[in-house]
Amino acid sequence: MSAQNGSMKTPVVTLLGTGTPIPDPDRHGPSQVIELGEDTVLIDCGAGALHRFLQSGLDASQISHILLTHLHSDHVSGLNDFLWAGWVGRWWKGRPPLLCGPPGTKVFADRLFHAFEEDIRLRTDEGAVSVSDLKIPIIEVEDNWTSTRANWKLTAFRVDHLPVRHAFGFRFEYEGKSVVISGDTTRCTNLIEHARNADLLIHEVAWEKGMRMSIDQSEGADRARLERILNYHTSSLDVGGICSLANVKHLVLSHLMLAGGTPADLITDVRKSFDGKVTVGYDLAKFTP
Ligand SMILES: [Zn+2]
Ligand SMILES: [Zn+2]
Repeated sequence: MSAQNGSMKTPVVTLLGTGTPIPDPDRHGPSQVIELGEDTVLIDCGAGALHRFLQSGLDASQISHILLTHLHSDHVSGLNDFLWAGWVGRWWKGRPPLLCGPPGTKVFADRLFHAFEEDIRLRTDEGAVSVSDLKIPIIEVEDNWTSTRANWKLTAFRVDHLPVRHAFGFRFEYEGKSVVISGDTTRCTNLIEHARNADLLIHEVAWEKGMRMSIDQSEGADRARLERILNYHTSSLDVGGICSLANVKHLVLSHLMLAGGTPADLITDVRKSFDGKVTVGYDLAKFTP
């Protein structure tokens, strides 16, 4: 039984990291976890996710799934921490989590194992652990891929994070409540469809004014790079409209690209087009729909 949720009949979401690829001691890399009764599902594993997970008081032996929205490094750089700690610590005792991610996840995991070949050889030579306990099952998802467990349902849906070809959001249904994770995306019709009537939407955001100021102050390749970043993420001026169209009850902002702004600046922009509940996320914040 999980330390926090146990047999509670509502999903519990904990934000493990609300930051970006830019390191910030207060906002670790993108990651969140959702407790669904007896199952614990980790979504993305940015830098520091494992330590935030332990700080949150959750029970790692309950992790049933690890989901990856896409393979940008800020969302996966902490994955090996979970896999190796689980392996060495024997957290899963023959029932390792299922890794679900975009096309390319199997190759990514395979190369990760190659990168850690020396460590794997040393530990298996000692005879205490077997390599078969490290290699977890992997599923590569597609648009509208669903998985149904005894009392919850997961749907993967494509989002628009081009030039990343394979980027997904996830929708969870549990005991009549719905939680949606945007992943990284610009404004996207498929997300609006899949976030329809969600009780809780965890959505990424970039503060429009700060990003525009940064673009205006830069030149050449730097300017083009910042423009690309704003184009494949969601502006603070768009996220409220997305929630209104989808009829979301509670918006939680995460993956905060603040660009010199504050949480209050984000709220001001969202309020221009959304009347529902809005919270600016922070590491270790917990939410129940
Ligand atoms: Zn990304
Ligand atoms: Zn990202």
